[in-house]
Amino acid sequence: MTNAWPVLPDGSRLALREILIHGELSRAEIARSLGLSRASLTRAMRILVGHGLVVEVGTDVRGATGRPSELLHPSSGQWEFLGIKLTKDRLYAAVTDLGGRVLALHEESMPTTRAEDVAEQIRAVEERLRTAHPAMCAIGVSLPGDVRTVGGEAVVAHSLFLGWTDVPFARMVTERTGLAAFTANDVHALTAKEHWFGAGAATGGRSMALVTVGEGLGLGLIANGQVSTGEHGRLGRIGHLPVLGGGPDCGLGHLGCASSYLPSPVIVRNSGHTDATYDEVVERARSGDERALAAFADAGRALGVVLATVVHIADPSTLVLTGDGLPVYDIARSAVDEALRGALEPYTEPVTVEVQPFEFSEWARAGAVLAIRRLLAE
Ligand SMILES: [Zn+2]
Repeated sequence: MTNAWPVLPDGSRLALREILIHGELSRAEIARSLGLSRASLTRAMRILVGHGLVVEVGTDVRGATGRPSELLHPSSGQWEFLGIKLTKDRLYAAVTDLGGRVLALHEESMPTTRAEDVAEQIRAVEERLRTAHPAMCAIGVSLPGDVRTVGGEAVVAHSLFLGWTDVPFARMVTERTGLAAFTANDVHALTAKEHWFGAGAATGGRSMALVTVGEGLGLGLIANGQVSTGEHGRLGRIGHLPVLGGGPDCGLGHLGCASSYLPSPVIVRNSGHTDATYDEVVERARSGDERALAAFADAGRALGVVLATVVHIADPSTLVLTGDGLPVYDIARSAVDEALRGALEPYTEPVTVEVQPFEFSEWARAGAVLAIRRLLAE
């Protein structure tokens, strides 16, 4: 017997969304931010409490009236969500509560990337986690690929890593698990998670940009409070953005694009230590190896230009940097900052880069948050 997410009237849905984003709100604050009358708010809250979606946790004296107002929290325990992050050879899973808090983590290797096999593997993971988490009501799968809506259905249009074209993967997961399932590009999903439950939550901004660095480059954008995906699910393909003209060939004939400098394997190549791993080149740079430092400095300059370009295009309230290539920002910080400042000219407003440590579990958690956001219709 699965937990089926209730159909919520707009007032309740929007109130729940506000409570999730803020973590805790008083009735007075919710009424004010949504412009609800006292009667409508009471009705909206009764529905949420009735479904076990929010709990009252005492009172607070806030706001102009100074009257005590009941504080509301997302409930924990009655509604849980399974998030999955797929890479080309590994599956990461996280179970969260409604507030996006991680309750369980799991990972395993993926013996094949055939869509049917991966859907079946997710079914097995769901079954295994269900014993301890019977309240799971939906699954969100974040994957390296372009997800678009075709005829009202989400379809993985293309994934180079998984070798998929036009795969209705959410439907395949629902067919096997009986749960509502959603798919999204992994960087878009991570951006959405940071927006509600991470770096973006602090500012409560309606705009946010997230840049990932590592083997590749990625960009996620929140505009007007929603995840932007582009027409074809391809928003954020910034890997070959021109950054420093006249540089080395990225392999596609672009001289001096972001992929001529920034991807981790390219830093290794540019350092001249071609037999070394990325981690070894990081170590060499940290111990003062000049060629390794030069490769990181070039990567840092490229990253600065990429970040400035994102700022110019998106004007985000929060700019987040993450990914397993974060050593670039650590080793070549001054090159990044200088290039960022230079490329922002003639505008001089300071830009703060929020660095988020890279963890696969956070990408899996993003899958769970994807499911939460979709159930609330974003
Ligand atoms: Zn290129």
